[in-house]
Amino acid sequence: MSREQLAVERARKAFLTGRSTVLENRIRQLKNLKRLLVERQQEIAEASKKDLNRSEVGIQLYETLTLEVEINLAIKKLKEWAAPRPVAKNLLTMADTVYIKPQPLGVVLIIGAWNYPWAVTIQPLIGAIASGNAAVVKPSEVCVHSAKVMEELLPLYIDKELYPVVTGGVPETQELLRQRFDHIFYTGNCTVGRIIMEAAAKHLTPVTLELGGKSPCYIDKNCDISMACRRITWGKYSNCGQTCIAPDYILCEPSIQDRVIQEVQKSIKELYTENPKGCPDYGRIINQRHFRRIMAMTEDSAIAVGGENDESDCYIAPTILRDVKAESKVMQEEIFGPLLPVVPIGGLGDAIHFINQREKPLALYIFSHDNKVIQRLIDETSSGGVLANDCLVHFSVSSLPFGGVGNSGMGCYHGKFTFDQLSHLRGCLIKKLNMEGSNSMRYPPHTHKRLGWARFFLLSDLDLGWLGRLAFIAALVAVAAVVLQNYMA
Ligand code: NAD
Repeated sequence: MSREQLAVERARKAFLTGRSTVLENRIRQLKNLKRLLVERQQEIAEASKKDLNRSEVGIQLYETLTLEVEINLAIKKLKEWAAPRPVAKNLLTMADTVYIKPQPLGVVLIIGAWNYPWAVTIQPLIGAIASGNAAVVKPSEVCVHSAKVMEELLPLYIDKELYPVVTGGVPETQELLRQRFDHIFYTGNCTVGRIIMEAAAKHLTPVTLELGGKSPCYIDKNCDISMACRRITWGKYSNCGQTCIAPDYILCEPSIQDRVIQEVQKSIKELYTENPKGCPDYGRIINQRHFRRIMAMTEDSAIAVGGENDESDCYIAPTILRDVKAESKVMQEEIFGPLLPVVPIGGLGDAIHFINQREKPLALYIFSHDNKVIQRLIDETSSGGVLANDCLVHFSVSSLPFGGVGNSGMGCYHGKFTFDQLSHLRGCLIKKLNMEGSNSMRYPPHTHKRLGWARFFLLSDLDLGWLGRLAFIAALVAVAAVVLQNYMA
């Protein structure tokens, strides 16, 4: 039996003991996970420095702090999330108990990506634990050091049978994918997303795919361009552009292109100094394969700012490309690096057309003072999420679902959405073995009179306010019981 098979089998066996579903145990595991994040900050930071040149503060700000927030929320809300959820009744279910019961799915496979290894791997795990599942955790092999730390530390803090870590690359992941899971939660690129979905189809396993894409950023010519560019600079060059929701390219009218470039350049100096290479807050490209992929994208575009690079150090300076055409290399796929193309466009209508001609992105950014412009972009385009007048921060709002649409992914998570995503929302209807008269309308012989009653009960849509409704329903139930009992049969 392979290592991967063994991990899945053990996780399933542990799940079947029922211990993952006990609320107190879920909370204990979550608290232990939080303890890991706090107590082992040093090891986490050192690995992140080696993988992506993140600073010690940077890893907390961009990854572990959000995880602590998510854990706190899950601990605080778990009882409420896991409780039966009463739902609306109709005239026919008035006397019944009707509710939704969230239940664990079983064993979840979590496959993480390398760019924010802790955030994208541990955040789904928080939801998996909260919703009472077992979970096999597969960190990305590309962030070598972070994966190793995760493999070493998780078993020291949380139940290692319920939540085993399996490390490895493509062969190991594919071996995992041959096993049967109850849900697969994948973060990464679209190509592998298709492989995941194909493997999942064999067992009819549901999937969440957190993918990427080219997230557009529209700048309205009447907005505060200086402020907009400062926020865009931060959103684009954080983690050296290796952020799934980084603004991929700018759409703006030609009349403001020069100003936009100047302002982004000014902000680059402000945030990353005159020499970003020596700035502790400026990252590195994850490896040389990605370095070469990104540099090749600059070939047919004009570099307005930056462009300096050093392959041996995986360094690419914050770079702005000007007068970029839709056909240029940099516009063909997600950049996932520190290149910011500016694509001049006729105006709002053209920007909407440009966005709608392409795959649905993970995020859409709009910078405008005008609420009508913001609303029009929201109404006439589609994307996983929308953020107006800022970048990235919608990721940290636990009350918003985070996920893609179309090519940018399926399913969503964060806060209660992760809990629901990894739960089966079981519909429960509990009737009593009386009031048989009310069932006559569905039993044969099927007469027009009975159909008339069925239409009345199912189609009545009276809105009398809740007090009036209550009084009306009580009277109706009493009358219906008598009528049905005596005359309908
Ligand atoms: P990656 O190379 O780390 O791959 C992700 C995972 O897929 C890894 O665990 C890897 O082992 C596995 N994998 C790779 N090839 C495989 C194969 N052939 N068969 C089975 N498994 C395989 O990460 P990546 O794909 O380079 O990540 C970057 C992409 O992820 C970008 O497109 C980015 O936008 C996206 N992303 C999305 C989110 C989100 O929340 N939506 C977050 C982070 C990254």
